[in-house]
Amino acid sequence: MSGFSAFRLLREALRGQSGWGPQWRSPEQPQPAYDVVIIGGGGHGLATAYYLAKEHRVGRIAVLEKGWIGGGNTGRNTTIIRSNYLFPESAALYDHAVQLWEGLSQELNYNVMFSPRGVLMLAHNVHDEQSFRRHVHANRLAGVDNEWLDAEACRAFCPPLDIAQQRYPVLGGALQRRGGVARHDAVAWGYARAASALGVDIIQNCEVTGISRGADGAVNSLATTKGEIRVGKVGVVAAGSTSLVMAMAGVRMPLESFPLQALVSEPVKPVFPCVVMSNTVHAYISQSDKGELVIGAGTDQYPSYSQAGGVQILSHTLEAICELFPMFRRMRMLRSWGGIVDTTSDRSPIIGLTPVPGLFVNCGWGTGGFKATPGSGHVFAATIARAEPHPIAAPFSLDRFATGRLIDEAAAAAVAH
Ligand SMILES: Cc1cc2nc3c(=O)[nH]c(=O)nc-3n(C[C@H](O)[C@H](O)[C@H](O)COP(=O)(O)OP(=O)(O)OC[C@H]3O[C@@H](n4cnc5c(N)ncnc54)[C@H](O)[C@@H]3O)c2cc1C
Repeated sequence: MSGFSAFRLLREALRGQSGWGPQWRSPEQPQPAYDVVIIGGGGHGLATAYYLAKEHRVGRIAVLEKGWIGGGNTGRNTTIIRSNYLFPESAALYDHAVQLWEGLSQELNYNVMFSPRGVLMLAHNVHDEQSFRRHVHANRLAGVDNEWLDAEACRAFCPPLDIAQQRYPVLGGALQRRGGVARHDAVAWGYARAASALGVDIIQNCEVTGISRGADGAVNSLATTKGEIRVGKVGVVAAGSTSLVMAMAGVRMPLESFPLQALVSEPVKPVFPCVVMSNTVHAYISQSDKGELVIGAGTDQYPSYSQAGGVQILSHTLEAICELFPMFRRMRMLRSWGGIVDTTSDRSPIIGLTPVPGLFVNCGWGTGGFKATPGSGHVFAATIARAEPHPIAAPFSLDRFATGRLIDEAAAAAVAH
């Protein structure tokens, strides 16, 4: 820290931080009309607005958020980032995101704390091992890093892991060293600040309650809790509520929504050097920079819009964590929470055009969309601006559920991240 900034920090501390203005503009009222409106102020929506303003120079852009920005899944997730999905289409999409993550703090001039500490996915049975080995080969062919570690190498990479316990035997694991974590709030705030600086209006506490279409069938206005807004194009990026929002325009989505839970422990000194996921057992874990263990569970068995998931899901996950990492048995949990995730039948997202002219959708990221945030926003912005799918987004169109050309990532993403 330079002498100047240290002095300023001290001065602001003594003055109650009165000299620091808001990081982004947040007008109370929207303008009467926009060229593009993004519904949903999560990371994906804010990133879309940022790239629309920066790379496509679209005129007037607004992000409408029914609560506060980042208050949805963006602020509730366990922040695992990786790109070792099976099919080339998915690897291209998620690796586009990882490449953007690698320079995101510089791009936004905001420290998103991207930490590529390696993501290890454990294999507990022969099926897991065969599947992960197949992923490793497919990823390498696609130019994406992924490697197979035997059990002993897994333990060496993650010393707290008990590979000798009998309940969840560790046969080995797939490791993506470029994978890791980032600070979720900072991602929302960084994109918000950068988008706002480019003129994007970020309107919080503004729920979209209706979508109207003109005589030509194209979307032309939105009803909101802050009045009616005329629009040129609309991008729906409303994870957890996509089916509800799209129904306002008469579009039925091939989605099911489930609660997904996570929890954090009391903080301890740095003891856990990486990210470990167990898709089979439904448990994953990393340690935050504050020292808390960040632990994620699987989805509830039943679709629901409740953010309070089942207690049995959490207890199953904690039992598994204690088996795999016995040193954590005496840790106390601080808090748990849930989010609502929209899932598709092939566990891949939907990005693209809809049957309604001027209406675009980005959804279906299920349990694993945080990792895609920069890439998703980047390709969705291009899709909206050009009114045709970005080449990376093209395979993820809504009409694949009619044509049957699904991208089945169940093995990579079923209950995992
Ligand atoms: C517990 C949990 C753990 C997870 N762990 C991981 C992980 O480790 N790695 C990973 O990659 N992914 C993970 N995910 C998934 C990830 O969080 C999401 O896929 C991703 O954050 C979605 O981002 P988003 O910007 O699309 O959605 P959100 O951040 O949910 O943003 C959507 C916004 O739309 C708003 N909205 C909805 N309806 C309206 C309306 N009518 N009008 C205005 N605004 C509206 C909502 O308020 C919300 O803020 C996890 C999710 C959960 C819940």
